[in-house]
Amino acid sequence: MLQPKQNIFMALIAQFILIVQSKKWTVTAGEAYRPTFVEKIYVNRGLSKGMNSFHCKRLAMDLNFFEPESEKPCYEKDKIKELAEIWKSLHPNCVWGGDFKNINDTDHFEFNPDVINSKFDNSIDISDWNKKVLANENITKLIDAEKKEV
Ligand SMILES: [Zn+2]
Repeated sequence: MLQPKQNIFMALIAQFILIVQSKKWTVTAGEAYRPTFVEKIYVNRGLSKGMNSFHCKRLAMDLNFFEPESEKPCYEKDKIKELAEIWKSLHPNCVWGGDFKNINDTDHFEFNPDVINSKFDNSIDISDWNKKVLANENITKLIDAEKKEV
């Protein structure tokens, strides 16, 4: 069943946005849910490779980031990588499109239950992480840490 995973993904996205904003970056929404008929159009136009996009499962969201004081969205991999490292630290199943092998999808943030990201090893207890995410324990710790740094 996808719904419990989608719920965790939403909690993670909410936490991620708050952390990014606490670093004085601005965030705007890109594409989130993508219906199958839209995915078919993307595939026909060469914009998507197959029908396996996590956008179709409601487990991916594109986000536009603006550096502090900037009015232009930033898609530079080196700069977004800093934010992506935060995303990956929130949950072992958090995946960033900037790490994809065949495309550079820096605005793409995904929750993939079949992947353990590079910040974690395979011995991690996912169910324990899911409880922490839904209890919002990490966000308070991370935001408090950010406040101390400022
Ligand atoms: Zn995407």
